[in-house]
Amino acid sequence: MSVFNYEKDADGIVTVTMDMSGPVNAMNEEYRGAMGATVDRLEQEQGLCGVVFSSAKKTFFAGGDLHELLAVDKGDEGDFMDMLRSTKGVLRRVEKLPVPVVAAINGAALGGGFELCLCCNHRIAWDNRAVQLGLPEVTLGLLPGGGGVVRMVNLLGLEKAMPYLIEGRKVAPAKALAEGMIHQVVASAEELVPRAKAWILENKDNAAAAVQPWDSKGHRIPGGNASSPKLAQLLMGAPAMLRQQTRGLLPAPEKIMDCAIEAARLNLDVALEVESRGLTYLVTTPQAKNMISTFFFGMNRVNGGASRPSGFDKYQTQKVGILGAGMMGQGIAYASAMAGIEVVLKDISQEAADKGKGYSEALLAKRVERGRMSEEQKAAVLGLILATDSDKDLQGCDLIIEAVFENIDLKNKITAATEACLAEGGVWGSNTSTLPITELAQASTQPKNFIGIHFFSPVDKMPLVEIICGEQTSDATLARAFDYVRQIKKTPIVVNDSLGFFTSRTFGTYLDEGVRLLKEGAHPVQIDHLGRAIGMPVGPLAVHDEVSLELTRKVAETQLEMGVAGKWGEQDDMAEVVTTMIGQHQRGGRHHGGGFYDYPEDGSKAIWPGLLDLYYREEVEIPQQDMQDRMLFRQVIEALKCLESNVLRSVDDGNIGSIMGIGAPVWTGGLIQFVNTYGLQRFVDRCGELAGQYGERFQAPEIAREHAASGTLFS
Ligand code: NAD
Repeated sequence: MSVFNYEKDADGIVTVTMDMSGPVNAMNEEYRGAMGATVDRLEQEQGLCGVVFSSAKKTFFAGGDLHELLAVDKGDEGDFMDMLRSTKGVLRRVEKLPVPVVAAINGAALGGGFELCLCCNHRIAWDNRAVQLGLPEVTLGLLPGGGGVVRMVNLLGLEKAMPYLIEGRKVAPAKALAEGMIHQVVASAEELVPRAKAWILENKDNAAAAVQPWDSKGHRIPGGNASSPKLAQLLMGAPAMLRQQTRGLLPAPEKIMDCAIEAARLNLDVALEVESRGLTYLVTTPQAKNMISTFFFGMNRVNGGASRPSGFDKYQTQKVGILGAGMMGQGIAYASAMAGIEVVLKDISQEAADKGKGYSEALLAKRVERGRMSEEQKAAVLGLILATDSDKDLQGCDLIIEAVFENIDLKNKITAATEACLAEGGVWGSNTSTLPITELAQASTQPKNFIGIHFFSPVDKMPLVEIICGEQTSDATLARAFDYVRQIKKTPIVVNDSLGFFTSRTFGTYLDEGVRLLKEGAHPVQIDHLGRAIGMPVGPLAVHDEVSLELTRKVAETQLEMGVAGKWGEQDDMAEVVTTMIGQHQRGGRHHGGGFYDYPEDGSKAIWPGLLDLYYREEVEIPQQDMQDRMLFRQVIEALKCLESNVLRSVDDGNIGSIMGIGAPVWTGGLIQFVNTYGLQRFVDRCGELAGQYGERFQAPEIAREHAASGTLFS
């Protein structure tokens, strides 16, 4: 029996219901067999009046088979290109059938799924939140090579198609309808096939209904082809602008732009061939391998609970207490209430607590204003948040998260004072960013129920949460904390306790290396420029200003007091620079009136001239590649040390955590995945060179040497 169920009705309409053997319909060997046979049969079918493509799965069609794409290696290009040609040839035959073909879209149709839809003459989608349409290949370092680039350009025009191709923008059916990507929406999934059939019957005598716009006589691309004066002007600046955005680190958007421009210039079949060549090039790039490995497979494992202990029923948090309604507490309250959890938001005064709740009110008002929420829904979410100055209201919480000032005595005091309010078996979470969880748990009578739940700022936007297990944290507590993070729709990574945990510790090395380069005499503008050139969102000095030099000083002081300083990297240069900047020049960072940069009132920023006097030495020349590698390798080495010392419990957590938590370059697929495609031995060798020249901190960790010796990739 075929995985494409073929059923012809009395009107001569064939419904092809795709029901592949995997969990989703995907473009793989099985698909190619089934689709080829289906099209053969359709072409032979007597009395055929029309065709409907539908799906028996929850998603309509998931797209390319990423296992297959990941396996394509250098040297396989010829076979891959042949496979693409043949897949696209079959799709071309679908759109050349002499009868109307309709896609009845009951679920997500992304990537290859939407490419299949584009080969249908008419597209009808169920107007439901579960249905998303688009071509997100670029987010995995690929391009839509099943005709997606070419058909989108022909359908929407170059300018309008570009964001869908280059940003991988996904849209809901209503928006897709407005954009002209689909033709109809229906209110229920059951209506899809009947509506599709009705459309076919209405159009059975209309020959044009069976012809794709790009195959119709006199077809013009909306907005003109690549040589139209308006587009030509737009295209002059576009590649340079794109290069500025990608910093030359991501080949996919650039290749997509090339193929899209070609699609607006060449005839369809030639353009399809150019597009195939584009995908064939991209599929073997390290960037694509990295992005597929981490953003798809790694992410699925992380969100799927690979780091969650098994044997515990999934737990739904009902009532969460949040101590401290400041910047973090108010964000955690919002994220929790949005997930339908009852929230008690407590601060030292009613006024402070109300102010914290006001944050949610403002965010919700914005949603209403943008039509993303009704007034009733807003009221319902706000109704879940109780702002209070009384511990009594915390009674019965199954989770309490403290987000009070970063002060160990204060944190210990509130643990002792409020822990008893927890319901039986309730969990105590600390949002500390620097204090060791094991140490904080000493103030608890139930250290097994004590865990770190480390959010990132701003909480409503940042998708990551770092869960930190103290020495005594139980698996049951971890499972509950994990479930809570998933409940509020964030991605949890799980790490063991260590100074700076995983994210702050690794990020700290980036700041540290920036400061070292400064102290060695490199130009601060060059340092920040090269930080961005490796793909970090912001240079190390600029981001240090944002985090604040004050905070670096405070953390160092606290650690000194606790007797734990000195374990967190070699910070001598850091201590010297930060002390000089703050102590002698009152430059504690952006929010302290300026730091490495000046921040004039007009919103601009420029290097503080005093910085050049202090550190810049014109005669110092550090090779650019060395500077870049130093800033990247420090972070990679630290991530590997975290893995080696069991701070990281999995490679996936390290990769996802570094990308989503500290803005590691996306092209690396995460700081550990980077080593896989850079080359294990090459990495060890380069570490050796850097160590020889710049210091022991660049020595490759033992775990990297072991992997290089055995040739085992990190996974
Ligand atoms: P904040 O200064 O904005 O807020 C702290 C709040 O705690 C204040 O509103 C204060 O009134 C309140 N508070 C003090 N004592 C209290 C008590 N006894 N009971 C209830 N409330 C009390 O600080 P923040 O930036 O929100 O940071 C809070 C915690 O989160 C800190 O531990 C910090 O290290 C951590 N953290 C901060 C960030 C960040 O980017 N700001 C990121 C991750 C974690």
